[in-house]
Amino acid sequence: MDLLTALHAPGPDRRDAVVVDGRAFSYEELLGAAGAVAARVAGAPAVAVHATPTARTVVAVVGALLAGVPVVPVPPDAGPAERGHILRDSGAALLLTGAGADHPAAGGEPEHLPVDPDERAGFRAVDASPDHPALILYTSGTTGAPKGVLIPRRAVAAGLDALAEAWAWNAEDTLVHGLPLFHVHGLVLGVLGALRTGSRLVHTGRPTPERYARAGGTVYFGVPTVWTRVVRDAAAARELGGARLLVSGSAPLPTPVFHELARLTGKPPVERYGMTETLITVSTRADGERRPGSVGLPVAGVATRLVGEDGSPVPYDGATVGELQVSGPTLFSGYLGRPEATAAATTADGWFRTGDMAVIGADGMHRIVGRASTDLIKSGGYRIGAGEVENALLDHPAVREAAVVGAPHPDLGQQIVAYVVTEGEVGERELIDFVAGHLSVHKRPRIVVFLPSLPRNAMGKPQKKLLPPV
Ligand code: ATP
Ligand code: MG
Repeated sequence: MDLLTALHAPGPDRRDAVVVDGRAFSYEELLGAAGAVAARVAGAPAVAVHATPTARTVVAVVGALLAGVPVVPVPPDAGPAERGHILRDSGAALLLTGAGADHPAAGGEPEHLPVDPDERAGFRAVDASPDHPALILYTSGTTGAPKGVLIPRRAVAAGLDALAEAWAWNAEDTLVHGLPLFHVHGLVLGVLGALRTGSRLVHTGRPTPERYARAGGTVYFGVPTVWTRVVRDAAAARELGGARLLVSGSAPLPTPVFHELARLTGKPPVERYGMTETLITVSTRADGERRPGSVGLPVAGVATRLVGEDGSPVPYDGATVGELQVSGPTLFSGYLGRPEATAAATTADGWFRTGDMAVIGADGMHRIVGRASTDLIKSGGYRIGAGEVENALLDHPAVREAAVVGAPHPDLGQQIVAYVVTEGEVGERELIDFVAGHLSVHKRPRIVVFLPSLPRNAMGKPQKKLLPPV
């Protein structure tokens, strides 16, 4: 089925089917505005979109997809080096922008094409191959230089249909979110998911608790930093109790936040796990158990497996950690221009290596332990997940944020170092003892560093490589 099926589907349409940045479109109006873009970009090898959280971005993305042209979202706050890298690396022929000179063309940039969301034109959607890239998304760069991930049209369609099935997401829903429009979460699952299921989409701009409380959604998306803010605003949180699903993804949801959200809204959150390379992999089902620290089951069509360091299979006993590998129709088709990186991420039998460590229970429920590179600490012969220590620290009433890493240690191999943002009086010794009291002694941090804030990217993910060394 075509990627934007719901937009073409005949039937009653709402006047405010898509509301972004305070501007409302019916599906017919969105199709008209996107048609005007499609007519101008048709035939281009790829187009970049200056991806502000505005209606213009949605119109530009849908227009390019109608024309069968791969979309390259450029983060609006990208510095010159990142922006230049994405524009050059992707080979985008055009950059779709806003009207006016809010981001003037610098030397070496592709031609700028202003998009006017009030323009309308009829356009017959190009029948693009399912193998053709729908998007070229650049990874967050949490662990290295951003790589262009080629996401075929088939993967977007399969991933969104699998999510719709897992969440019973349908045309009666109103999806509310305020996430950036240059990542899988906000753009693909958020915007394209709403359009494919035919549901209403309300983008709140900045995802504040007050805006979420006022938006009247049935399904809400947030990253953990958004839900952390929501639970600190009890009045706003209670307003969300009428929603069907509160969904968290993109980073681990601290278990204290899970419990607070459940208490204040009466709705335990649904967690999902995915990556740019795999779109959506695992999720709690709408009709399934919602368990803190668990991201649920593989979505329809997707298979996962756990592999030990020596390549051996890992038992699904809810305790043994292995690398999570993925296979199925939602996978990317490669890193643009980096065959060696694509090969390195693929096993001999064709599975994708996520680089994330996980645990699977006998019931199939998945728990993400974290990234093998930064979140798995090997200390004194033990393998310790940073997330477990972070959750224990967050249970302390004075701790607002926590990031835990392993630092080299002469005897232990690695020692546990905790970076915390605190509110109120608390010292290093107290926090070390607090963790030792909650977890086993070998999981306690040896050093606690107090910071005014943690380095995070636009998705609220802690950037552990930017933490000051001890
Ligand atoms: P880069 O690959 O450039 O280093 P990145 O991995 O942060 O950046 P994304 O593809 O946006 O870029 O993020 C995917 C990663 O986010 C996953 O590999 C995983 O580590 C983490 N993640 C996503 N969802 C969850 C979740 N529900 N729980 C825990 N971790 C998650
Ligand atoms: Mg990654």
